[in-house]
Amino acid sequence: MKYCPQCAAELREGLIDQKIRKQCSADCGFVQWNNPIPVVAAIVEYKDQVLLARNRAWPEGWFALITGFLEQGETPESAVLRELEEELGLSGSIEEFVGNYPFFEQNQLLVVYHLRAFGEIRLGAEIAEIKLLPVSKVRPWSMGTGPALRDWLQQRAALD
Ligand SMILES: [Zn+2]
Repeated sequence: MKYCPQCAAELREGLIDQKIRKQCSADCGFVQWNNPIPVVAAIVEYKDQVLLARNRAWPEGWFALITGFLEQGETPESAVLRELEEELGLSGSIEEFVGNYPFFEQNQLLVVYHLRAFGEIRLGAEIAEIKLLPVSKVRPWSMGTGPALRDWLQQRAALD
């Protein structure tokens, strides 16, 4: 961002709260805080298998959890169930809150739930393909939604 979204003056860098941040050069009060954006994510269990999805924008072979942004006025619980419906055509119930996971590379905070899903799968526009794996065959990855899946798998293994 180069110009102030409030008054269109140029932004300049300055030290605020011990960090270099862009702020309005006309001192209208605008500061680009660059706070992380919350994103809901779902570990979807469907017919006793874990569902992973490949986004259309991703290369072949990349799969991850279903994710999405919150709408204004929406709770994370409603948002994650809405994403389940929009991206997979499934209804579902929240089994548990898995945790909050920072995704620093994307400046996001992932709010992760374990969902149980029902219905017939109908892929939404954003999803290229899905795969269904038995829990024992799921291998978490290190970035993004992977650590939440890793923790969930570990908890589950501890219960068995
Ligand atoms: Zn300004």
